[in-house]
Amino acid sequence: MQIVTEPKTLQQTCLRWRADGLRIALVPTMGYYHAGHESLMRAAREAGDKVVVSLFVNPAQFGPAEDLASYPRDLERDAATAKEAGADILFVPRPDDMYPEAFGTWVDVPDLSSHLCGQSRPGHFRGVATVVAKLFMLAQPACAFFGMKDWQQLAVLRRMAADLNIPCELVACPIVREADGLAMSSRNIYLSVEERAQAPHLYKGLQAGRELVLRGETNAEAVARAIRDYWRAHLPLGVEDYLSIVDPATLQPLTHIGLKALAACAVRLGKARLIDNIFLAEGARPAADPL
Ligand code: AMP
Repeated sequence: MQIVTEPKTLQQTCLRWRADGLRIALVPTMGYYHAGHESLMRAAREAGDKVVVSLFVNPAQFGPAEDLASYPRDLERDAATAKEAGADILFVPRPDDMYPEAFGTWVDVPDLSSHLCGQSRPGHFRGVATVVAKLFMLAQPACAFFGMKDWQQLAVLRRMAADLNIPCELVACPIVREADGLAMSSRNIYLSVEERAQAPHLYKGLQAGRELVLRGETNAEAVARAIRDYWRAHLPLGVEDYLSIVDPATLQPLTHIGLKALAACAVRLGKARLIDNIFLAEGARPAADPL
């Protein structure tokens, strides 16, 4: 595995690979790898002739009061993980090379970016869409792999790829969880022992909502109330940022739960802001392409 820092070097290599008819699979990440990242890398390894993993803590997607400076980093360990998972290139650009002084072009998908996480993280998805568009131009991927944990990100990027005619297939990968149900996240290290003990109840609350739907409840408000009741009882340290029951494709809030409904949430737990989601209706989640 080669570690590449220069955007131009990555682009030249990938253009050459593509001209040779090779299928490039891209996995964009911010590093500090866990099994969720590894699952994306392994899926990319299966799908591509060449695998490019990018590791870039993208300043453009962090708000001024967010954790850009303290975001966990461990390049040495990450490089070993990416190599082990089959990456051909680990792309680790410098922020100044991705955003030189004269940088002035942004990719924005306002309709899908404004609600859910966009409410408390204005500008976040503009930063994500812009950096992923740049990575697509640099790595020339035939396919790119993203986790369903960041469901809104996936929806935004799919819209972007469709709107801009980007010839890359976006592949959604299932959420990888700890044994107790907590969705893996690089930010889980921010949790204190007490917070970590409560954290699995985030997902357990979502599961309680899903069980209600499977027993016949179709009223979104009632399901949201049940999830909040569960959290109030089991996750007292958590402060809800949002809980929304939405159409998984449009992210529009639902009042009635039919075949396609997603409960998505963000909850602050100490220094960590945890996000998670669950499909509420049985059979609503085709494995490969949920949208
Ligand atoms: P990050 O490094 O947190 O920006 O995440 C990079 C990619 O890994 C994104 O596509 C995430 O959705 C995905 N990802 C993060 N956590 C998980 C998880 N627990 N399971 C599956 N994918 C994940």
